Amino acid sequence: MPESHVAAGSASLPSARRAASGLPAPSFLRERLKYAIIRAGLEASALFRTHALLPGLGGRGVIFTLHHVAPAERRRFRPNAGLTVTPGFLEQAVLAARECGLVPVHLHELPALLADPADRRRFVVFTLDDGYRDNAAFAAPVFRRHAVPYTIFLTGGFVERQRTIWWETAAALLERASAIILDFGAGPERVETATLAQKRAAFARLEALVGAIDEDEAVARIDQAARRAGVDPMAIVDQLVMGESEIRALAEDPLAHFGAHTLSHVNLRRVGAERLRCEVEGSARAVARYAGRRARSFAYPYGWARAAGAREAQAVREAGFPVAVTTRPGVLSADCLRQPALLPRVSLNGHFQAKRHVKALISGLPLALARG
Ligand SMILES: [Zn+2]
Repeated sequence: MPESHVAAGSASLPSARRAASGLPAPSFLRERLKYAIIRAGLEASALFRTHALLPGLGGRGVIFTLHHVAPAERRRFRPNAGLTVTPGFLEQAVLAARECGLVPVHLHELPALLADPADRRRFVVFTLDDGYRDNAAFAAPVFRRHAVPYTIFLTGGFVERQRTIWWETAAALLERASAIILDFGAGPERVETATLAQKRAAFARLEALVGAIDEDEAVARIDQAARRAGVDPMAIVDQLVMGESEIRALAEDPLAHFGAHTLSHVNLRRVGAERLRCEVEGSARAVARYAGRRARSFAYPYGWARAAGAREAQAVREAGFPVAVTTRPGVLSADCLRQPALLPRVSLNGHFQAKRHVKALISGLPLALARG
């Protein structure tokens, strides 16, 4: 998440939350600027119906990233709001893709489909990261109703309740606390978190901490601060993430596929070679155990360029995954086949929940604008 996460919303999108998927955004100002560009691009493309006028920009289709799919919440402090879309919006996204002529397929089928010179169809792939329980409750029924295949990426440590989800912990902690004490690098520091602005600023600092120091250590410090405030970080995982029996039940649906998303959701570019291998191969074995089927795809935690590069792609190939996805924004093209272990994705973001936004994203124009 952080990119996704934080990124949540944008991570998938141009950049916005690069941090999200895990990581912290470079700065509030830059993030806001990027956000403005994305919004302008989305609205402009929606207005001009680019998907009809410029079909070439959209390439061969798109892989969508989702996280939570759940009814809207009314809480004021929702730093991860970009990571949640409603079931109604997901249904609109499915309909938008179909109206744009995209054919829904499984992620692991993509390389063969794109490589077939006789097949000129455009495709849409739905992926959901982190294995949230709401995927089974609210997303699966939508996919079933429309016969759309989908892939859910599981993190072994979440499924087995051995790793906490720092961005969810941070949100719960800051919502409850009026002040926290945490070591940001200069010893224990008291940070006021009473007002909405203070909570948002503190979340940004925690996100930055995760990106700045050893990720395991940062997660441990956030967990510790949460426990001091009466928030149980593992109870949050238990509440949000599917356990093994739920995964096994959902795996009986032929539309559902389970891919791997590491063991601890750590930024893979920041760990050593041995940890990298364990995270990738260990999660492949874990997913096969939970779902009773081999994982045929992989998603990099966070997924942006600073979390997934050539070394990580090689580890994924060596572990036997034919395809892997990043959160680098982009539509599909024949060029993607040169790097099937680093495919781009487009985030369906909680901040842009309208059918016209989905059609704009499918057009490829907002992504082209944001890069430019
Ligand atoms: Zn993730």
